[in-house]
Order: sequence, then C-alpha cells, then structure tokens
Amino acid sequence: MPTRVLVIGGGSGGTMLANALDHRRHEVTVVSASSDHLFQPALLYLAFTGAAARPVRPERALLGRHVHLVEDRVTRVDLGSRQVSTAAGRDLGYDYLVLATGIQSDPSQIPGLAELNARFGDYHSTVAQARLLWRHLDAFGGGTIVLGQSTPVCKCPPSPVEGILLADELLRRRGRRGASRLVFLTPYPRPYPAEAVNEVVEPILAARGIEVMPFFDVDRIDTEASVVHSIEGDEVRYDLPILIPPFVGADIAFEPPDVLDPDRFLRTDRHTLRVQGFDNVFAIGDGTDLPTSKSGVGAHLEAKVVARALKGRPASFDGRTNCPLDLGHGRGTFVIGSYDRPVARSRPTRLKHLMKIVFGKVYWLSLRGWLEPVFDLYFKLTAPRPS
Ligand SMILES: Cc1cc2nc3c(=O)[nH]c(=O)nc-3n(C[C@H](O)[C@H](O)[C@H](O)COP(=O)(O)OP(=O)(O)OC[C@H]3O[C@@H](n4cnc5c(N)ncnc54)[C@H](O)[C@@H]3O)c2cc1C
Repeated sequence: MPTRVLVIGGGSGGTMLANALDHRRHEVTVVSASSDHLFQPALLYLAFTGAAARPVRPERALLGRHVHLVEDRVTRVDLGSRQVSTAAGRDLGYDYLVLATGIQSDPSQIPGLAELNARFGDYHSTVAQARLLWRHLDAFGGGTIVLGQSTPVCKCPPSPVEGILLADELLRRRGRRGASRLVFLTPYPRPYPAEAVNEVVEPILAARGIEVMPFFDVDRIDTEASVVHSIEGDEVRYDLPILIPPFVGADIAFEPPDVLDPDRFLRTDRHTLRVQGFDNVFAIGDGTDLPTSKSGVGAHLEAKVVARALKGRPASFDGRTNCPLDLGHGRGTFVIGSYDRPVARSRPTRLKHLMKIVFGKVYWLSLRGWLEPVFDLYFKLTAPRPS
C-alpha cells in the first residue's frame, strides 16, 4: 500500500519535492493556494530592468502526472489527528505531511509601509507590484532613492544589495546618476550581513557613491513628509522609496500552536527537517525557522533531504546556501556556506553573473528534477571548504 504524502505549498520547495517522490511508493498530493507558480527571482529584473517576460506558469504543468493537485488554501492543520482543512471546506488526511508554504510580506507591521508599497510598488510580492516599481524607476528624473530591508529577515538575503546596485546601473545608463542620491538602509552593522561577502560588496557600494545607513530598523514612514524613521532614531527623506517589507509565515492555524514561532515560522529540526515533536511532519523552504538563507536553492536542497528520508534512506540537511548575487554591470558573485562552514569570499566575475541568468532560464526544467545530475555535480564542485 503506498503511503499518503500531502505537500502543502506548490512553490519551489513543494513542487521539487512532489516531483522527486516515487509514485510506486507514495500517493502524492500537493495542495496549493495558487494555481500559478511564480519564479520569484525574476521580480528583481521586472522591477529594476523592466524585463518583459511574465515569470509565471500554471502549477499543474510543472507537476508530474503522478502528483494530485488540489488548488485550495489550507486554513488549519491538526498534527495530532493528521487532518488538514481548507478554505473550500475540504478535509485531507495523510501519513506524511510536508509543509512548504513559504513566507509572505506583511507591510502592516510598519505604520505607513502598506500605503508606501501600494503607491510605489515593491519587488518581493507580486508581478504587478514589481511592474509598478519599474514604472516609477523608469520615470525617475533625479532625487533621492532610498532602498533597504525593513527588518532583519529577508526573502533572498542578496536581494537588497542587488536592488540598489541595479538601480545605480539603471541611472548611470540613463545619464541620471549625477542628479540622484542613492541611500541603502540596513538593520545590520554593515551592508551585507556575512562578513566575507561584505568585503566584496562594501567597496563596490562606496565606488558607486551609494550611501549606507547601518543599524536602521524601520520604525515608521511619514508619507506626508516623505521620511523613513528608524527605531534607532535616524531618519532619511526620499523621493522614491523601495522598502522590503517584514515577512511572516503562512496564515494557517496549527494544532498544537507551539510548532510556530512568533513570526509564524515553523520550528524545524535543523538536520532532519522534521517539525519539532512530529516524526511524520517535515518543513522545507522559507517557512521554516532554520538558521540559513531563505532562498530557492535552500528549498531545493531541503526537498532533496526530505525525499531521501521518505524513501527510508539516511538524510540530513547541512544548512547549505548557494545564493547568486548580481553586482550590476554584468558581474556577479556567490554566497556559499553551511551550518558549520562560514560563507567564504568569492571573487566577482562575469561568469558568476551569467550562471545566475542561465539558472533563471532553466528553473522550470529544474522543478521536474530533470537536471538533478547536473545540480548534484555543481553542488559537489562548489561545496564550502572548512575555514
Ligand atoms: C526578488 C527576489 C529574488 C530572489 N532571488 C533568488 C535567487 O537568486 N536564488 C534563490 O535561490 N532564491 C531567490 N529568491 C528566493 C526564492 O524565490 C524563495 O526562497 C523560494 O521561492 C522559497 O521557496 P518555498 O517553496 O519555500 O516558498 P514559495 O516558493 O514562496 O512557495 C510557497 C507556496 O505555498 C503556497 N501557500 C502559502 N500559503 C498556503 C496555504 N495556506 N495553503 C496552501 N498553499 C499555500 C503558495 O501559494 C506557494 O505556492 C528570491 C526571491 C525574491 C523575492
């Protein structure tokens, strides 16, 4: 008898995992709130370069034929009785549950932010929001652009630095950089939290004349005066604000509720990826509280670990991160580390930038698992070394 595996969330992690499972061994169902699958890294290029391609495909087309898809929003998960309830009134049972529900932006945490993002757009939520931001950047004739993450948790940690560097590149190409001030806000003590990456990034920001305001946790925005205030007491005036909102886990009521932390991230064992207290429940991707980058690559590697565990093989996640960072002007670097191997300095090159762009092109194929041998080799060759 195949065991029933229920995957909640049809994003990067949930889709890769569902496709990796053996239909002879498992009856696989994905329940996802959206019938569309968004390739989120493309939002950066929609917002800062005006890229035209729509990075969205129907989730059904990305799943193997053996996977059942239920398009519905999960509202309640009772881990004790193994019951999942949905907005449309479905009750779904399982033998194994995998939570791959990602995170969502929550501008309501900061006074003024929802109004600000509704007016200027952002590049961490939807295609429409990213296009709105592009329209403002495209029309920007000069003044102050303020860009930063509001709080320490960020979906894709390189994305704030990528945003300011691509804004700089755009203004230079348009001949408007001289009429503009670029200010980068960060809650961290330096522009990039990991020191080795910061050694690469900070001199580039300085060379491009980008001002950095460290220790800037956004407290509130005065939209009348066009000023962002920090908890630490600093303030900055903007003409075009690009503020990455706070993030929280999916809006699902859990029983027991203490599997969630205060930001609704799932308390997850950092190696087995089991939700604490439940041997038959796993969590992968952005929605976990794992001390590693919230990235698609992380979700991919975690999906591989859970797929192995469900096949009854030894499986342990080592916290590997492997995030590409676009430095603008056709150069890139990588942020590569793991739980016990700190991120090392990686020289910016054109090849690394090209790898990021190529990955965007092969993303849809990668979801089906067809490129796994190539990825396995790549991850092996780029494995972080002991310090
Ligand atoms: C601007 C930007 C740039 C990025 N660049 C990179 C990059 O270069 N490299 C990289 O590796 N990563 C990058 N990322 C991050 C990457 O996109 C995410 O980390 C990745 O998508 C996380 O995968 P996930 O499966 O955890 O969640 P998601 O892909 O967000 O999927 C979550 C799924 O859960 C579903 N869901 C949510 N709530 C419910 C519910 N209640 N019921 C049912 N379904 C639900 C959603 O509909 C969605 O299908 C970037 C992100 C952004 C925004």
